[in-house]
This record gives sequence, C-alpha cells and structure tokens, in this order.
Amino acid sequence: MSVKNNLLQIKSTLPEHINLVAVSKTKPVSDLMEGYEAGQRIFGENKIQEMAEKWEQMPKDIQWHMIGHVQSNKVKFMAPFVSLIHGVDSLKLLQEINKQALKSNRIIDCLLQMHIAEEETKFGLDQEELASILSSNEFQELKNIRIVGLMGMATFTDKKDQIKKEFTHLKSIFDQFKIHNSQFTILSMGMSGDYQLAIECGSTMVRIGSSIFGGRN
Ligand SMILES: *Cc1c(COP(=O)(O)O)cnc(C)c1O
Repeated sequence: MSVKNNLLQIKSTLPEHINLVAVSKTKPVSDLMEGYEAGQRIFGENKIQEMAEKWEQMPKDIQWHMIGHVQSNKVKFMAPFVSLIHGVDSLKLLQEINKQALKSNRIIDCLLQMHIAEEETKFGLDQEELASILSSNEFQELKNIRIVGLMGMATFTDKKDQIKKEFTHLKSIFDQFKIHNSQFTILSMGMSGDYQLAIECGSTMVRIGSSIFGGRN
C-alpha cells in the first residue's frame, strides 16, 4: 500500500468532524509529499528540529503540529510557524511558549497533555494540576498562547476495556473544563491502534502515523 492509498482509506472511515494529524516523525520529506499531494495538510512531528527542517523544505500551507514532549530551550525554533502544540504539561513551558510567540508576534495554540494511562513514564497532568494552571494568575497573564483543548495517550495494551475507560475519563475532564473555557474545542486522542475507539469516546482529533506511513525503526 502507498502513503496515498493508506491516507485515502483512513480518511474514508473518519467522520467529517474529526481532524486527522498525519504523524510523519522519522519519515523522509518524499513520503510526506506523497501525503501532501493526496490532500493532507496537517502533519505531526515529535522532534522540534526535525519539524523545522521539514517546514523549511515543504509547501507553506501545511499546518505543523508538535505532538512530542517539548524541551523549553527548543521552543524558539518552532515559534515562527508551529500551528498547534499538543504536549504541554507545565506552566513553565506555557510561559516559554508565550515568550517566544510574542517574539514572533503570534498567538500559539496549545493543548494541555493529561496523564490518563497506567504507565508511570507517560507525561501529563492530573485533573488537579490542570485546574491549578488554568486558575492561576500567571496563566491569565499569558496573552500570546491560547489553550484550545486537551490531549492524552491511553495505556499501550490490548485490553480494549481499559483503553476505553481511559479515553472516557479524558472526555469527561474535557467536558467539565469546557464549561468554563469556551476556547476548548479540541480533544486530541487516538493513534493507529486505537483511533476508532477514541472517536467512539469523543475524540475530535486523531494522530495517526504507522497506518499511513508504515512502521518506524
Ligand atoms: C508517534 C505518535 C503517534 C502516532 O503513533 P502511531 O501508532 O504510529 O499511529 C501519535 N501520538 C504521539 C504523541 C506519538 O508520539
């Protein structure tokens, strides 16, 4: 199967309101261009430098999403062009993004990453930390970032029940916070292995890599 066929096949199964992020990390620009030519305009990367290199080489109507863990000292390399940062999980990082966004004279959209999985290793906030960030004075002062929703990753497991429970939990947090945050419109959950389940549970944005571009080494 080609990138184009994979992409069109997946798109044909997605409900219309679902945004597809084509996760192209580690893949060469030629593979991304195949996706671009098939109509894909949102690409997700997990390393800032790799994303910046691809941004330089590729058409400028692409929306670049940073889906990986963000190192503060590298925010400046993506601030001029990144369209959505999925993995924000601290006030300190928000402050750095705000600072760099201001330098680029932009407002950068961000998602706060929630910890919903069982594994200790996954990044993310709990509900209390989320509430504390959103209600802090420091956050209110940040005029060059906008929190547009939440992102989460389920436990890496075959147990559908567990994944479903975790996605449902994230959706309930999203709904709860949406009441007081009218800018909350995006719930980013679901990858190649679990995106159908994520959509059933209320996802609005799926991040799909290997099912489009093939496996990674
Ligand atoms: C790599 C990655 C994906 C895509 O994973 P696939 O299983 O290849 O679809 C999605 N989200 C994040 C945060 C990732 O790092």
